[in-house]
Amino acid sequence: ARRVVVVGAGMAGVQTAVALREQGFDGTVTLIGAEPHQPYDRPPLSKAVLLGNAEGSAFDVDFEGLGIELVLGREADGLRPADHELDTGAGPVPYDVLVLATGAEPIRLPGAEGVPGVHLLRTLDDAERLRPVLVRQHDVVVVGAGWIGAEFATAAREAGCAVTVVEAADRPLAGALPAEVSAPMAAWYADSGIDLRTHARVERVEPGAVVLDDGSRLPAGAVVVGIGARPATAWLAGSGVTLGAHREVVADAHLRTSVPDVYAVGDCASFPSRRYGERLLVHHWDNALQGPRTVAANIVGAATDEPLAVYDPVPYFWSEQFGRFVQYAGHHVDADRVLWRGDPSGPAWSVCWLREDRLVALLAVGRARDLAQGKRLIQAGTPMNPRLLADPARPLKAA
Ligand code: FAD
Repeated sequence: ARRVVVVGAGMAGVQTAVALREQGFDGTVTLIGAEPHQPYDRPPLSKAVLLGNAEGSAFDVDFEGLGIELVLGREADGLRPADHELDTGAGPVPYDVLVLATGAEPIRLPGAEGVPGVHLLRTLDDAERLRPVLVRQHDVVVVGAGWIGAEFATAAREAGCAVTVVEAADRPLAGALPAEVSAPMAAWYADSGIDLRTHARVERVEPGAVVLDDGSRLPAGAVVVGIGARPATAWLAGSGVTLGAHREVVADAHLRTSVPDVYAVGDCASFPSRRYGERLLVHHWDNALQGPRTVAANIVGAATDEPLAVYDPVPYFWSEQFGRFVQYAGHHVDADRVLWRGDPSGPAWSVCWLREDRLVALLAVGRARDLAQGKRLIQAGTPMNPRLLADPARPLKAA
């Protein structure tokens, strides 16, 4: 391939372009992004950038020095694989190899669109619109007690806002973690002075208020909607690229799509995990760092006899919420046993998920060492001694 075009200039797109150069690709690399801003990192948007402790979070990458052509403020709106062309508002862009890295977009709250004071939190522009809300210490209502909701609520409390979090499920993070693990997290909200309303649904949003289905009316100087994200792939409809149940690009173990010479990586794509025996759609930063290395290796290796690189990571992510550092590695769905290390009402504890005495996933709250050691044990599939594992005073290791 002489000309690689990467569409989407977020973490996955930028890392793909950089990895191509690191792995010796000397053809043309063009990185096309819809946003007008210099490519930036998203995790700080709900943390330092939101609080005004950091001006921005632009990636520290010398695009010019690396010979990466950056095309910003340009949205792809179609793909014609037979012609090897990408369509954009400013005309078609030819490619030899195309990498889809358009990420995800937040799910909107029905009926709330266009109501003044309703916010999402995905982009730098979103974070900049939310900064004055914190500075002016508005009363805020957060819809959704997921990762983004928890992090925004943390920042808003730190800024001195009164915060109410509305959650349809019976507890925070209901979509991500089993009940016994996420139930203790409800106390984090209360301890931070947040009014967490579970089993609560938004009936409607009005200027200045959120009305719940039980009739209660919550005053809201601002409303932040954090009810999930879905792959930004609407523009691929009709292109022939296979999309999955969540509208994600369905990639294979080498991160190739159903269409020749087109790869997909990051929040927009799912891949088959051999390790876990199921297809994974991961919406976390580490996946947008690791996946691109596989994509670049397969683009660079295509001209050689090297076997294709397989993407089979142990997923990893972190979250900073309510003064706690929460980390997770692995995938717990298939686990047959759960073990606790420490007391979940205390400041530091971990949960280990086992399958046939092998660690398959781990959640660590304020126990970064458990995470580091556990991630290695998951990777290696080492048999564990459950009795020793449950002793938080012992390092996590095979016995
Ligand atoms: P994105 O970052 O979404 O980038 C995709 C880019 O493609 C966007 O800039 C978009 O504008 C562009 N694009 C979309 N459609 C088109 C198109 N048609 N044409 C051209 N360009 C297009 N993960 C963690 O593990 N830990 C955290 O603490 C954490 N915090 C987060 C906090 C926030 C506020 C957010 C929003 C996410 C956070 N994440 C965190 C998740 C992490 O940031 C994402 O997993 C990561 O950004 C995914 O990278 P990506 O490049 O696949 O997608």
